[in-house]
Amino acid sequence: MENHGEKPIHIHPITRVVDDIARIFSGMGFSIVDGPELETEYYNFDALNVPKDHPARDMQDTFWVKTKPGEEARLMRTHTSPVQIRFMESHKPPFAIVCPGRVFRNEATDARHEAMFHQVEGLYVGTDVSLATLKSVLHAFFDRLFGTDIKVVFRPSYFPFVEPGVEVVASCFKCKGKGPCVICGGSGWIELMGAGMVHPNVLHGVGIDPSLWRGFAFGMGIDRLAMLKYGIEDVRLLYSGDLRLVNQF
Ligand SMILES: [Zn+2]
Repeated sequence: MENHGEKPIHIHPITRVVDDIARIFSGMGFSIVDGPELETEYYNFDALNVPKDHPARDMQDTFWVKTKPGEEARLMRTHTSPVQIRFMESHKPPFAIVCPGRVFRNEATDARHEAMFHQVEGLYVGTDVSLATLKSVLHAFFDRLFGTDIKVVFRPSYFPFVEPGVEVVASCFKCKGKGPCVICGGSGWIELMGAGMVHPNVLHGVGIDPSLWRGFAFGMGIDRLAMLKYGIEDVRLLYSGDLRLVNQF
């Protein structure tokens, strides 16, 4: 009989990064919160300022769940953003939360895409929150996650639930832009997430007065962070159940 007690313990890279996220953000005063994976159309789209006929609903191919006639449409959540709505409905600001969890998209899989993957949502609502606060929080997070000094740059972008919206890119922690590099393709920059200031309509919808409170929100792919941190080149490896991957950690 094998002695299981003598075998080293291996922790899956996704679990490792989720643990890192929880540790780093807790250290900055954020709470870790959770929400349902089976969501209503209201929390996944409507409450996030995505109008019924808006093309953003087509941007995310969604797994809709069969419902009875007259029942509210339900789906497997396409992002972790509904958790911020549920939290804001039941808490008074100021607050700072991160919500790591699984999300689902009805799309073909390849080296960069899976139908199920992990995201972390961040939300900070207060009276003195700005894009500069977001930048300093993300800067601290990436430095601690990758263990080296990282530059964080915002590029204008569009998401219905933030205004202004930004795409966040970070300087490549491997080559520092000197390339050739498999991580950044030699560009020196890595696209990491979408973010921005919480749209006043979203705050208004959950009963928070946008003339008194402001907030930032961000959403980033945990799988991508794990792939970058541990040099994993195909996202499908993370879900293959192949012990040769897990045994390296
Ligand atoms: Zn690089």
